[in-house]
Amino acid sequence: MDDNIVAIATSLGVGAISIIRLSGKEVIKITNSIFKGKNLERVNSHTINYGYIVDQEEVIDEVLVSVMKAPKTYTKEDIIEINCHGGIATTNRILELILTKDVRLAEPGEFTKRAFLNGRIDLTESEAVMDLLESKTESARHLAISNIQGKTHEMVEDFRNRLKDLLSSIEVNIDYPEYHDIEIITVDKIKGQVKQMKQELEIIIKESKNTKVLKEGIYTLIIGRPNVGKSSLLNQFLEEEKAIVTNIPGTTRDMIEGQVILNGISLNMIDTAGVRKTTDQVEKIGVEKSLSLIKQADLVIVVLNGSEALTKEDQYILEKTKEKNTIVVINKNDLEQKLKTEKLNDFTLVSTNTNHIKGIQPLKDKIIELFELDKISSKDYIYFSNIRQISKAKEAHQKLIEVEEGIENKLPIDMIEIDLKACFDFLGEIIGKTYSDEIIDHLFEKFCVGK
Ligand code: GDP
Repeated sequence: MDDNIVAIATSLGVGAISIIRLSGKEVIKITNSIFKGKNLERVNSHTINYGYIVDQEEVIDEVLVSVMKAPKTYTKEDIIEINCHGGIATTNRILELILTKDVRLAEPGEFTKRAFLNGRIDLTESEAVMDLLESKTESARHLAISNIQGKTHEMVEDFRNRLKDLLSSIEVNIDYPEYHDIEIITVDKIKGQVKQMKQELEIIIKESKNTKVLKEGIYTLIIGRPNVGKSSLLNQFLEEEKAIVTNIPGTTRDMIEGQVILNGISLNMIDTAGVRKTTDQVEKIGVEKSLSLIKQADLVIVVLNGSEALTKEDQYILEKTKEKNTIVVINKNDLEQKLKTEKLNDFTLVSTNTNHIKGIQPLKDKIIELFELDKISSKDYIYFSNIRQISKAKEAHQKLIEVEEGIENKLPIDMIEIDLKACFDFLGEIIGKTYSDEIIDHLFEKFCVGK
């Protein structure tokens, strides 16, 4: 792992500046060999140096070179960053020149992987780096940066320290079995602490599910038969005329998608084609698509026309969506209401008028309430932020349950110790204290080159 790597760190295209980044034992010497200016091997660490990149006599570009010496760098190795003029030809030419030296092209995420393997950051922090690069909303950015600062790491370490304390109490017990008192104290201590940790972990796991919403937004499907006001609803959310609003049944044939930000959270809304029995081929595809999309949705908004009685098609849609997180919108509340709501008792209902912006406020309020958006956007984010972390946390939680059962069934203390140790290890996997090469390779492959 101590070879020299290089990558273009900025996205390749026309721009004012491109950055080429190198990391490894000999990168200062190597860069110096193609640099005309100060001797980079003699300059202080963390300095920016003006000069030229040269290929023998030929000047390739006028550049600024940052020299950062180990260990206070991103990878804990020597790092060079060459700020050259942006543009594909210059950047590529410098990269090619560097590659003629003892340097190889970095793999995706290799700089961050080195930061992890050299102990500068843990796994949750590495994952947060990727999340930050990919974040599209303010809430996603906020979540990622708090994890880069080590919030999840601290939380996991706190659990691990408490477990370490319990494990050492057990060790004392095993070492001095003749003192019966110690065993009673130890079992009581474990009981109380395990209960406490189990509850805390449960809450964090539950709240962690919100991070999907923070990172990716709420995937929202608007569904209903033609002419009930689906496109109008989406338009009111988008506050612009993106969807075609018309009163000819079945004209919103294809899916129309729009992204709305509600309390800093992105609502990714899809207006589906009107669901109804149809012989029109184009529309039929739309109908089937909209029903199949129900499965993936985080939220389904079923739109009904309040000025008409419930139809068979409405009932069919309600049947298909009853297992989901569904809000039933009874629309056109400015007209005389003929829809009877008795059959809808199991659903969350809101009454709207999608012809007016104010008419959809009850729906907005309901979404905020349902996803607790007013709380999560202002909270201090300490969560597990992806499925890998959550599944390890669940395994750790399960071990705490087994410890409790063991105590209940009066198992010998060294049996209880095994479960506690397993819990400790699962938590360690979250932050990468224990890991397999396969998992690490898989994780960093998802990064972009140069990060
Ligand atoms: P979709 O087929 O479900 O997408 O329905 P549209 O949004 O195209 O609306 C169908 C018709 O109903 C249009 O003429 C709209 O102007 C009208 N409409 C939509 N919402 C309301 C409402 O809240 N009240 C009334 N009175 N008409 C509405």
